[in-house]
Amino acid sequence: MLSAHDISRKPGEMREHTLTIPAPARWGEGIVSVPAGKELNLEVRLESVHEGILVSGTVDTEYEGECGRCLREIAAPVEVEFQELFEYPGQEAADFEVQDDHVDLETLVRDATVLALPFQPVCQPDCPGLDPVTGERRTEPASEQDAPVDPRWAALQNLTDHGSASDAARDTEES
Ligand SMILES: [Zn+2]
Repeated sequence: MLSAHDISRKPGEMREHTLTIPAPARWGEGIVSVPAGKELNLEVRLESVHEGILVSGTVDTEYEGECGRCLREIAAPVEVEFQELFEYPGQEAADFEVQDDHVDLETLVRDATVLALPFQPVCQPDCPGLDPVTGERRTEPASEQDAPVDPRWAALQNLTDHGSASDAARDTEES
């Protein structure tokens, strides 16, 4: 809740606020979310217009959860812009209304934040994920691990095998 008392009904007036408040609840239903109590750093601008108070600003916070591929715990910053017109109460109900010269930012900031959360979060862009057979975390990207050995390297491997075989044969002859 932010007071707009001093600019209410005074079109052209503007106030800026910087505030840090804890998230009032867990925001987000996916595999990552902003946990309750996480700091929300808000830069908010309130502008008085004829119809009400135009609220705009940014929220800067952090989400937590699991990598969608390897299930490792992750946390990353998220910064989102928001803007909404809070209308003065009138005959028609509006989604956002100025109430007792106050604007309630919670729904606005929550919705903007939740929309900005990644749908498929990863710990790193090329996270190799889990091995489908063992369920262990892979250490190499799947594409490289699954690729067959380059035939030229396979040929070299044969040479090496031959070499050691003949070495062994020579050792036998010498003894
Ligand atoms: Zn991962």
